[in-house]
Amino acid sequence: MAKVYFYYSAMNAGKSTTLLQASYNYIERGMQTLLFAPKIDQRFESTVIYSRIGLKQTATPFDEEFHFFSCVQSSLEDNPQIRCILIDEAHFLKKKQVEQLFQIATDLGVAVLCYGLRSDFLGEPFEGSRYLLAWAEEIAEIKTICTCSRKATMNMRIDKEGKAVTIGSQIQIGGNESYISKCMRCFRKEVFSPKQECPMRMLS
Ligand SMILES: [Zn+2]
Repeated sequence: MAKVYFYYSAMNAGKSTTLLQASYNYIERGMQTLLFAPKIDQRFESTVIYSRIGLKQTATPFDEEFHFFSCVQSSLEDNPQIRCILIDEAHFLKKKQVEQLFQIATDLGVAVLCYGLRSDFLGEPFEGSRYLLAWAEEIAEIKTICTCSRKATMNMRIDKEGKAVTIGSQIQIGGNESYISKCMRCFRKEVFSPKQECPMRMLS
């Protein structure tokens, strides 16, 4: 039976590489996959997911209004070999879209593999991840390490000097280089340093 999977990690843990590898595994066995990635530029009808080790595959871009169920349903009519969809940066999904993913698995029998971050640069959960963590039938962590060599679970936004940024919007398109993955201990020390007010309080 097809299920919804959520693979979560901190920034720069190799999520896209893992996604592309999973897609290739399906293709090698004679099945077809569909890839989705957030729409970064309104002009493009397709986008490409790259990995740092050289793999790449074309993906369909999605925004907040994108309807996953009807897209996969009509794609299946053209190509009944589709057995799996893979979603990059799934933390950007809206609740209603996560609901559609379960409809895809249950009603269409297509497996849904989601890859994303759990929390933003202030430690707040993303909407997509909140529901994927709550509902996904299979959840696994893609591990990466902090500069101190502990496991990194948090995402720190940094400025040009490498200092923690604690103000700004949740979504900042592009710029993986403006993030660094941190363990909770280092994240708390740098983001919630006693010299400044807790950013979570400043937002409320
Ligand atoms: Zn650390």
